[in-house]
Amino acid sequence: MPISALEHFSYCPRQCGLIHLEQVFDDNVFTLRGRLAHERVDEVHHETRPDLRREYAVPLWSRRLGLIGRADLVEFTATGPYPVEHKVGKKRAWDHETIQLCAQAMCLEEMLGQAVPRGAIYYHGSRARREVEFDAALRRQVEETTAAVRAMLRDLALPAAVHDARCRHCSLQDACLPAVVGRPARARAWRAELFRTHGEEDGPGS
Ligand code: SF4
Repeated sequence: MPISALEHFSYCPRQCGLIHLEQVFDDNVFTLRGRLAHERVDEVHHETRPDLRREYAVPLWSRRLGLIGRADLVEFTATGPYPVEHKVGKKRAWDHETIQLCAQAMCLEEMLGQAVPRGAIYYHGSRARREVEFDAALRRQVEETTAAVRAMLRDLALPAAVHDARCRHCSLQDACLPAVVGRPARARAWRAELFRTHGEEDGPGS
């Protein structure tokens, strides 16, 4: 299962279902900006300094969690590996981003047999890092989200629409139609109206 599914699920379970169950993907200004911001870190290369080695586009996996993915950047210093995820926009504190970063750290720990207690998210809009500590609560969130995504994929169950402020930034609005499916009573009323109108136009016996 891709690590990105954890980020999608913790942002909106339906978004995760649309992408990973129904293979829907649409771009909007946010996804396009994200792609541009990732151009440099999507290419496998490295940089070395006297006390630091930077590896870009590092493949990741965890047999225990059943996850695969890629880290934008892993810095190796005397204190161990330090994953850095690149994001567009200004510095913020969004949980779905920290879950993704912590999942990368848990993969690195299993792959390298070394503790990864911290990492950072780099925000291109502010040119600033937010350091994240991978504490027990965050690691539990990664495990629980992994189990929830796996259950969704196993049951082929597309989650309900959240229909809230998250939808404004979501590129999948056209496929999701949150205003329709997020209000089942309204959708039922529209359906009843549609069939009532058609029934009247078609006339009796049709
Ligand atoms: S439009 Fe809203 S409900 Fe639909 S996938 Fe996006 S965030 Fe989720």
